[in-house]
Amino acid sequence: MKIYADHAATTKISEAAAAAMLYHMNETYGNPSSLHTEGQRAAEVLADARGRIARLLGAEPREIIFTSGGSEADNQAILSAARLGEQKGKKHIISTAFEHHAVLHTLQALEKQGFEVTLLDVHENGLITPEEVAAAIRPDTCLVTVMFANNEIGTVQPIAEIGEVCREREVLFHTDAVQAAGHLPIDVIAQNVDLLSLSAHKFHGPRGVGVLYAKKGIPLTSLIEGGAQERGRRAGTENLPAIVGMAVALEEACTDLAGKRERLTALRDRLIRGLSAIPHSVLNGDPVRRLPGNVHFCFEGIEGESLLLLLDDKGIAASSGSACTSGSLDPSHVLLAIGRPHEIAHGSLRLTLSAENTEEEVDYLIAAVTDVVAYLRSISPVWRELVSGKQKFILN
Ligand SMILES: *Cc1c(COP(=O)(O)O)cnc(C)c1O
Repeated sequence: MKIYADHAATTKISEAAAAAMLYHMNETYGNPSSLHTEGQRAAEVLADARGRIARLLGAEPREIIFTSGGSEADNQAILSAARLGEQKGKKHIISTAFEHHAVLHTLQALEKQGFEVTLLDVHENGLITPEEVAAAIRPDTCLVTVMFANNEIGTVQPIAEIGEVCREREVLFHTDAVQAAGHLPIDVIAQNVDLLSLSAHKFHGPRGVGVLYAKKGIPLTSLIEGGAQERGRRAGTENLPAIVGMAVALEEACTDLAGKRERLTALRDRLIRGLSAIPHSVLNGDPVRRLPGNVHFCFEGIEGESLLLLLDDKGIAASSGSACTSGSLDPSHVLLAIGRPHEIAHGSLRLTLSAENTEEEVDYLIAAVTDVVAYLRSISPVWRELVSGKQKFILN
């Protein structure tokens, strides 16, 4: 059996999105900035895609800026808010310790430019509270940036409530909604969001394209100078096929969102129940306030990388949920942020499902992970020490 259970890393492109892209690559080859008929046809297709995406977010078309993906949208949102703050002498930013690196590294760059960043501690369940955000806001705070849903442990923050706090205190609010889009309802008005990032490849759209929503009236700093595309906020000839593919994929994902969410949640909970039976394991993140497809565990006494390689041998594409694959052996900053000790954080496994996964696959996943964990423990010196009582178990 071949099972793809790494949808938080990227998703397979939907057939409808791929077909729309191929069609527009061939048929809509004009430059939307050209005055001739071919160009104007492309401009209409672009405007149509912008309108469809805006509608799905509860936004206006002019509030939608097309970017090269989630990372660029995060960078532009944060740098724009920082520049606006700086003009008013406000150089304090609030975020959380377990954001995506596209946010954390942008904040680190701003610290080098004299900004002060408060990273709120995340509770063990992977959540922060609006009260904690309120308490951290100072007269010189120019931005709060809190992710909608975490890419590793899947926890979903109280975004509307955090947005309300920011609105009351007149501080800009950005949310990285890359993991939420297509899984949870997004409404920028109801959720009090000023700036929001999306990435198409996380909801069965193409790679290399995303959206920055910026509430009207918020001037953006351009990261790329050049032509006047995107109302001067992002230069470069628009990636029309990818933008249309993104619109098609987002529409598809948002169709019967509640129904798909319910089916996916049932699969997720079946997987969580099955893996919870493994001794000395723990589910990371809140059991309920989490993405419908996210399952994330730590298993004591094993290394996440070995687990991934053995699962791959069984046809399973999974993740440790951290940057270990990039060659770094540092444990995940997300797991450390929720207070997991290093020893535990190393033995992590993230399985992220989509509506295409089946109950049969979930049962295969449970059996495979149970087997592999037992095998790795049988050859682990750490496990021997734990079982013999030389070392104490951290997890029950
Ligand atoms: C994937 C991801 C990003 C980066 O998006 P790209 O389009 O790959 O640049 C940013 N934030 C979160 C939460 C993500 O999961």
